[in-house]
Amino acid sequence: MTYIEPAPIKDKENPLESMMQRFDKAVELLGISDEMYYILKVPARQVTVGLPITMDNGSIKVFEGYRVIHSNILGPSKGGIRFDPAVNIDEVRALAAWMTWKCAVVDIPYGGAKGGIACNPREMSAGEMERLMRAYTVSMLDVFGPDRDIPAPDMGTGPREMAWLMDEYSKAKGMTVNAVVTGKPLVLGGSLGRTEATGRGVMVSALAGMDKLKINPYKSSAAVQGFGNVGSHAANLLHERGVMVKAISDISGAYYNENGIDIEGAIKFRDLNKGTLENFPGAERISHEELLTLDVDVLVPAAKEDVINNENAPYIQAKLIVEGANGPTSASADDIINDKGILVVPDILANAGGVTVSYFEWVQNRMGYKWNLDRINRRSDRIMKDAFDKVFLTSQQFKVPMRIAAYIVAIKKVADTYKFRGGY
Ligand code: NAD
Repeated sequence: MTYIEPAPIKDKENPLESMMQRFDKAVELLGISDEMYYILKVPARQVTVGLPITMDNGSIKVFEGYRVIHSNILGPSKGGIRFDPAVNIDEVRALAAWMTWKCAVVDIPYGGAKGGIACNPREMSAGEMERLMRAYTVSMLDVFGPDRDIPAPDMGTGPREMAWLMDEYSKAKGMTVNAVVTGKPLVLGGSLGRTEATGRGVMVSALAGMDKLKINPYKSSAAVQGFGNVGSHAANLLHERGVMVKAISDISGAYYNENGIDIEGAIKFRDLNKGTLENFPGAERISHEELLTLDVDVLVPAAKEDVINNENAPYIQAKLIVEGANGPTSASADDIINDKGILVVPDILANAGGVTVSYFEWVQNRMGYKWNLDRINRRSDRIMKDAFDKVFLTSQQFKVPMRIAAYIVAIKKVADTYKFRGGY
């Protein structure tokens, strides 16, 4: 039997540490008491399970799985399940807190949670993945529930895994319970609009930011880092609204065209080219670093964490940064960016379109009804725009950047709710 030891977080400047630094700042500005600070900081529930799984070769491997419910003060907790070799309880705990603030900032009635299993999906067969997902679901029967804790996909998991989870949970309950999980395939009650929801929210946030900066979208330019789910949809939607997207990138490299990239063409090229932009024609190859410091109005980091840091922040020329990725800006870059007068729409606000449409999926499942795409888009756009306006106003009231303002809005909502609900 092989035991997979989960890896600890070693990096001091990891995005989760960065999140805590900003959280602490917002708590201080709000004048939150020490008692409330610990109520907000300490997770409500943490579950660790050992999952012995029979592998295809007949051996048994034990995997360690986690679920952390950071907060259920606002409602049932919500958060993805990550399959990755580096998953460990510290990471899951921090990501769960991140979900609490993200749901609170867009004012949806959820707490925050996260789950994960330390495993390598790239080395596992579909059968092994299925057994692991089903075993994890059974071990979490008293944790998950449409009124308790609602998982979703995260790194290494997708609609297929969510379908297995829903099926296993439903079997245990003796009835179909599709509201127990979001991010399901459409035929199982997934929502229209979920795939593009995060990129769409990034577009709404970018337009709202441009409006504040009096930038006319039809005379503006953008660079988008990352051309996966979030980046490609954000680029396409911005392009449709008149923004000239001059640069895009993925892991294969960065691509620039002074006259604007043909985004639809780039998406088609990527889809026919094993998911990569390698050898994308109609654009000049530039470096990853150059993309971040291009002379454009809007920069959308939509790839990974910590790409904007104290080394490249002094050279950023964009007037607006809209964070599609989670944690793309390290805390060490915050002051530099603020001193340069760049407006940043922070991750917990800008990329919350995804969780918003996940919430719609859950609402539709509970209603036993399906909304059309137009209704979903209108409602999610409104939620994103309202959240943007609230955070922007808070940033003016407290004279702080939008990032800290977003934490202020979120923390205040959870703290106020707790005060009314009360404790023991
Ligand atoms: P994805 O895997 O679909 O796409 C990631 C893209 O980034 C790929 O094009 C990849 O090639 C590219 N990339 C990776 N490393 C890069 C690098 N060093 N330079 C340039 N490009 C690089 O992932 P996604 O779902 O689009 O998620 C992107 C980010 O957005 C992540 O931080 C994720 O946590 C965050 N996010 C995603 C969602 C969602 O609904 N998908 C919601 C909220 C936040």
